Amino acid sequence: MPQRTCLGCRQVKSKGELIRVVNNGGKADLDLSGKKPGRGAYVCPSGSCWEKAFKGNRLENALKAQVLQEDKVKLLQYSKKLWSK
Ligand SMILES: [Zn+2]
Repeated sequence: MPQRTCLGCRQVKSKGELIRVVNNGGKADLDLSGKKPGRGAYVCPSGSCWEKAFKGNRLENALKAQVLQEDKVKLLQYSKKLWSK
């Protein structure tokens, strides 16, 4: 299993445990398949990791993409579904 680093907590985890975000035409988008082309970043399904990833434009810098407020909300809502499992 490939290993990736969470953008929030910087822990290395297997790819399947992390949520992939991809630069989709200059904007941050979820990549649920993990196979979308483009620059990607990985974050744990945890609120604190997303908060850290949003702080200081860390996600924007990693993706070289805009992270709009509505996209942040979307990403947080999706990750919440995963942690409630
Ligand atoms: Zn994390």
